[in-house]
Order: sequence, then C-alpha cells, then structure tokens
Amino acid sequence: IKGFKTLFTSCELGVFDVLLGADRPLSAEEISEAVGSSVDGTQRLLAACTGLQLLNTHQDQGRVLYSNTEQASVYLTRSSPISLFQSIQYSSRTIYLCWHYLTDAVREGRNQYEKAFGVSSKDLFEALYRSDEEMVKFMQLMNSIWNICGKDVVTAFDLSPFKVICDLGGCSGALAKQCTSAYPACTVTIFDLPKVVRMSREHFLTEADQRISFHQGDFFKDPLPGADLYILARILHDWTDKRCIELLSRIYKACKPGGGVLLVEALLHEDGSGPLTVQLYSLNMLVQTEGKERTAAQYAALLAAAGFSSTQHHLTDLRGKKKSFFTSTEGSHHM
Ligand code: SAM
Repeated sequence: IKGFKTLFTSCELGVFDVLLGADRPLSAEEISEAVGSSVDGTQRLLAACTGLQLLNTHQDQGRVLYSNTEQASVYLTRSSPISLFQSIQYSSRTIYLCWHYLTDAVREGRNQYEKAFGVSSKDLFEALYRSDEEMVKFMQLMNSIWNICGKDVVTAFDLSPFKVICDLGGCSGALAKQCTSAYPACTVTIFDLPKVVRMSREHFLTEADQRISFHQGDFFKDPLPGADLYILARILHDWTDKRCIELLSRIYKACKPGGGVLLVEALLHEDGSGPLTVQLYSLNMLVQTEGKERTAAQYAALLAAAGFSSTQHHLTDLRGKKKSFFTSTEGSHHM
C-alpha cells in the first residue's frame, strides 16, 4: 500500500512529467521547485521511487540526480500515448477510498460507496457517476486500457464477417475505435446510458469517425439496436449472475441467427488459484460494484443459461489476464 501511495503521489505531483521534459537528470531541489513541493518531502519521495525502480539515480559531484526509468516514461507520464496516468489518478482518488472499507465489504458482501462517498449505491452507476467530474474520470480510466491492448482484443477472433457491431456499455468508444480500425468494413454503434453518450460526444469522440455512432438507453430495459455482433467488454463483471443472465437473454432475443456476442473479461483459473491480478480485481468488484470476476466455465454457464451455444475463448495476453469469449447463435431457433 505504501508503494502504491508513493506511485500515486509521484504521478499526481507530475514528477515523471518534469523529468521527461528535462534534457538531463535533475536534483531533488530542481524537481521540488518544478512541482511546487517541499524539498524534504520530495527527497524522501524520490528515494522511495528509486527503491520501487521507477527512477534511476546518478551521482554528480556528491549530489544525487534523478531520471525516469523506461517504464516510468512510457506509463507514468501524462503525454505518453499509452499513459496510465488517468487510471492511477482514479485508483488514488476513488478506488483506494473504497478499499479502505474492505473489511466491511467482506463482512457485508457489498460495495462501500455509502461509507466512502456518502452516496446511495442502490443504483450502481448513479453512485459511480455521482458527479460529471467523477464520470469523466471513470470514462478516462475505461479508455486507457484499450490504447494498450484493444487491438489484441478485437483481433483475437476474426470479426470481419460481422458488419454491424453494437458495443453495449461501450462508454467513450475506445474499443469501438479499435474495431473500426481493425475491420474497415464494419460500423459500430455504442450503446450506453444517456449521460455517458452526452459526455462521449462532447469530450471523447468527435464526428471524425463516420463509422461510429451512439445510441442512448438502458440495456436492462430499452430495446437493443439490431446488430450482427454484440460486444460486452467489462460489463458482466459489474453484475450478479441473475442480472448477467437477464442481459444476455435480452441480447439472445435481439441477436439474428448467425450473429454473435463477444465477451471481454479478465478470467480466473478454473481452480481459483490465480492469476493474482484477477483475484484482486474480484475483490475490487466487491468494494466497487455488484459483480465479481469469473472463470471461463462460469461465463460459459451464464451464456448457456441465456440460450447461447458454441462458445469459444481466446487468451490475449501473456499473463493470462484477459480472455475473449465468442459465442455464435448460428443454428439457434429463437427468432
Ligand atoms: N465497455 C467499456 C470498456 O470496457 O471500456 C466500459 C465498461 S464499464 C465497466 C461499464 C459500462 O456500462 C459503462 O460505460 C456504463 O456507463 C455502462 N452501463 C452501465 N449500466 C448500463 C445500463 N443499464 N445501460 C447501458 N449502459 C450501461
């Protein structure tokens, strides 16, 4: 925890940005002046960053100078195209506060919005989007991962036969953009809550991409747009099994024969032994949502309960963290 807080604070103060902008290693005094912090506090912070292997040290006539490690420049600076800055800021200011109540979450088996932020968690996304500022931060968090692994996720299966794609809960459209760039013949409709659509149009997606459009609504209540392929990326892990089956059943009814569903989720090993990141995500889902992380068999069971068959899955990263599921409705008679 102390290590994470050190990382969060260094990012928030802009230590890595200052070092990226400098054409030489800098002293603690120079960094503290640039970010507007105390010299003593900054010296200790930089030393801890060195211990965490986020910074390199250099000796210069008895002085210690600092420079970014390669990883710090790539992931921790705001200007990097694959920056994790927004995720780190959201972790620091929101997720971390929910984790403060982990003991209560485990005792009660529910998320901790009421204690952490004083808001009702009756409607999960009302709590998550408790202000426009929070909503934008969440949307930036959602965006950041697809700049890193979105291409791998949308090309894990050949989706080129699907010309009309609907990204349910598609948020600000980062994955939709990956789809249109990987599949030149497809169009993507992003389906999301009205205020998310409004914010995406204002701040995230200009009309530049003619093949991406928005459709606002509630996927538990409103009619779903017709599509050859429905994408559910990091949606099912927010919800209980009952709600997942409810949503998948609605998709099954809307889906044409020969159509499909692409689920994108982090997967637990079947015996629950790992991966650690996903086990920790699942605890995160406890403190923050109504859902949990699941195994491949658990997702297959949810799909089967909604009527889907012929499930395939594919690993898209080396740590085994993400898997894509693809389900075709071919041969089904639900129409
Ligand atoms: N699919 C995106 C991704 O992977 O980056 C976003 C995932 S985010 C965890 C869940 C998304 O579902 C949010 O964009 C949220 O606004 C949307 N959402 C939640 N409840 C919804 C509902 N009832 N109807 C439509 N969208 C909803």
